[in-house]
Amino acid sequence: MLRHYNIPVFLPELACPFRCVFCNQSSITGRQQLPDDQAVIASIEEHLRSFPSSDRHVEIAFFGGNFTGLPEKTQAQYLELAQPYLKAKQIQGIRLSTRPDYVSRENLVFLASYGVRTIELGAQSTDDAVLQLSGRGHTANTTRKASNMIIEAGFELGLQMMIGLPGDSLAKAMQTARDIIDWGATETRIYPCVVIRETELENMFKKGSFQPLSLDEAIHQTAVIYQLLEQARVKVLRMGLHASEELNGAGLLAGPYHPNFAEMVFTRLWKLQFESADWPESKHIQIVTAPGQHNFAIGFQATNKKRLEQRYQKVEFVTNPDLQNRAFTIQSLPR
Ligand code: SF4
Repeated sequence: MLRHYNIPVFLPELACPFRCVFCNQSSITGRQQLPDDQAVIASIEEHLRSFPSSDRHVEIAFFGGNFTGLPEKTQAQYLELAQPYLKAKQIQGIRLSTRPDYVSRENLVFLASYGVRTIELGAQSTDDAVLQLSGRGHTANTTRKASNMIIEAGFELGLQMMIGLPGDSLAKAMQTARDIIDWGATETRIYPCVVIRETELENMFKKGSFQPLSLDEAIHQTAVIYQLLEQARVKVLRMGLHASEELNGAGLLAGPYHPNFAEMVFTRLWKLQFESADWPESKHIQIVTAPGQHNFAIGFQATNKKRLEQRYQKVEFVTNPDLQNRAFTIQSLPR
């Protein structure tokens, strides 16, 4: 089966004239300068060597601040670096992330000429009050229009969202997810808002005007949103922030960061699944899941299994490759 691999190139916010209240890009990327050509090429080569040589779909991914806010000469310089790998078919495409208000028809033509396939927009929310309180500097309509232009120009569209932003709620986050679906995104990433030092959010948090979600609330909201997106076949590429030295150390002041966040969300999805099931009267049960879901069904730190063990004397988890996604069966076994 074809597996997807990204070669990430992080570009910090040097190009970004905004300061979203939650953002201190130097803390998130751990870099404060644009990487030079040699560093990018070395990273590409190293990643290519680490991937299997067949059955792979590789993209160079320019992540970070605001790619299309960089001077066009700098955009071209980075995109040029990817060209030999595209021509040699060592990579199959280029993706990048940028802001919705930095998308124009002219720039899309320019990006297409370099083989860019996918554009991810930091939508964050589609609620104008949330966007304003978060200092985003654009409205939901800007994101909708940019999404249209990207799709019309033939790119794959990704719309990234955040939960727990200032003024946000589960209902607003669910509406953001519905808009992501309606506006034609084929993929998304869900990032919980955390309080990083040296950001406006730090001041808001210290003054008491902002309270981040608890880890449990963030897991619950993400699980609910994941179900909506999954039903609409929007691929969720990531849930939770990338681990970094800063987030694991002194850079994080408060908020729902956990290096196993995605695993915890899948654990919650299975908990919800189990809560809606009919359970047999028995002492020993066997739960059968798809192989790829086995660990999630048992749960992060075996929480789902432990919960079931409060009711049953023995709980076994086994796999069956015929099962898909979170489908499962329960069997009563003799003692
Ligand atoms: S647009 Fe992106 S890089 Fe710029 S301040 Fe906001 S989050 Fe940071």
